[in-house]
Amino acid sequence: MNELEYTRHIDTIIDRIEKARIKVSEHHIVKIVAVSKYNTAEDVAELYHIGQRAFGENRVQDLVAKQAALEELPLEWHYIGSLQRNKINALIKADPSLFQSLDSIELANALQRRLADKASTMDCLLQINSAHEETKSGVAPEQALETFAYIRNNCPNINLKGVMSIGAHTDDQALIKASFETTYKIYKQLENVSICSMGMSGDFELAIECGSNMIRLGSVMFPKEL
Ligand SMILES: *Cc1c(COP(=O)(O)O)cnc(C)c1O
Repeated sequence: MNELEYTRHIDTIIDRIEKARIKVSEHHIVKIVAVSKYNTAEDVAELYHIGQRAFGENRVQDLVAKQAALEELPLEWHYIGSLQRNKINALIKADPSLFQSLDSIELANALQRRLADKASTMDCLLQINSAHEETKSGVAPEQALETFAYIRNNCPNINLKGVMSIGAHTDDQALIKASFETTYKIYKQLENVSICSMGMSGDFELAIECGSNMIRLGSVMFPKEL
């Protein structure tokens, strides 16, 4: 794919986002985070040159390596993976624009301590395991409001901006939709939040129709024939 073909490909994705977004409201804005976890720094630079600014990684070491390789570009980095306790300091140092996968009170407490030590703050999303899947991290929907309130009240260096969720892992559209609706319902009950991050390459239109305003797109943003 040359640059023109790549631009056309991304335009088709943007058209699909537009169609889904308009169904919600003309005023509904959706932000794309391009998930570059299976791609190289060169691939990120290529997508940057056709207009993409926000990128997401799910391993701290990959985030740090890509930040270093691309430091001359004004990129916005998101961290979207599970965070091991021994990587907390490295993540604080990497200073992502948004840590999307804060998934427990224990992690929040550990992160809070390290942030306070370094006099830093971090914008975060609370990850919700909306379909109760054992293979996924995140707080159970029943505990989400309470967990959110706990972090707000006890972790002053963590700025909670909203919620993140991965759609149910199934081909059944009704179940995927139900998982998005569960997350959106929680989002609507929270105060002072602005981000509802849900939707990936296989389900972003449905996620947007369910209220998502941030989608995390990997494979469709980095087609193999690149
Ligand atoms: C990998 C990943 C994505 C992107 O997945 P695609 O299906 O390739 O779009 C989005 N969110 C999270 C949390 C991921 O780990």
